Amino acid sequence: MRKPRRRCKNPDCREWFHPRFQNEWWCKPECGVVVGIAAREKKRLKERQERESKRKKEAQQERRHHQIRKLEVKPLSYFHSKAQAAFNTYIRTRDAEQPCISCGRHHEGKYDAGHYRTRGASPATRYDETNCHKQCAPCNQHLSGNIENYTPNLIEKIGQEAFDILMGPHPVKKWTREELKQLATHYRQKTRELIKQREGV
Ligand SMILES: [Zn+2]
Ligand SMILES: [Zn+2]
Repeated sequence: MRKPRRRCKNPDCREWFHPRFQNEWWCKPECGVVVGIAAREKKRLKERQERESKRKKEAQQERRHHQIRKLEVKPLSYFHSKAQAAFNTYIRTRDAEQPCISCGRHHEGKYDAGHYRTRGASPATRYDETNCHKQCAPCNQHLSGNIENYTPNLIEKIGQEAFDILMGPHPVKKWTREELKQLATHYRQKTRELIKQREGV
């Protein structure tokens, strides 16, 4: 019986031959050398690719950790400014159809979210929705809130009871970074929902 034929593994040769052993894969020793070198090269390349992808993964992880550390060392004021921006955007969205809380004018131009009790004097009410309303930039920035007109309009808008609560004592609030992050997320979501709700009508 003839032994089965086999093709030489050397890609430059590819001759048919009759193997004498089960593990004989090339027709002559020279072909064996070529196949051996190719196999070693392939292995080296694979190892190099593995090292490279491992290095990349580690660098990526390092960058991520670095990002987290950077956020951790950010001052509390950074998180306050993010939360306040989200809160103020919500207030302006909520009051979009309303005039300036102080002067009662609908006019072209920039509108702010104006705090009745200022953030500096009353930090505990800086994220209080009864304390903040759409206000035109002239009233907010040039008339210091135009408080003498803000007061009656505010009472009319939120009611005497809510006004008294707003003006009453508030416990000192110590915000954590986590709370402020959640607050920012909460108000961004609230704004989105309000816009969606209005578009639906
Ligand atoms: Zn060969
Ligand atoms: Zn105004």
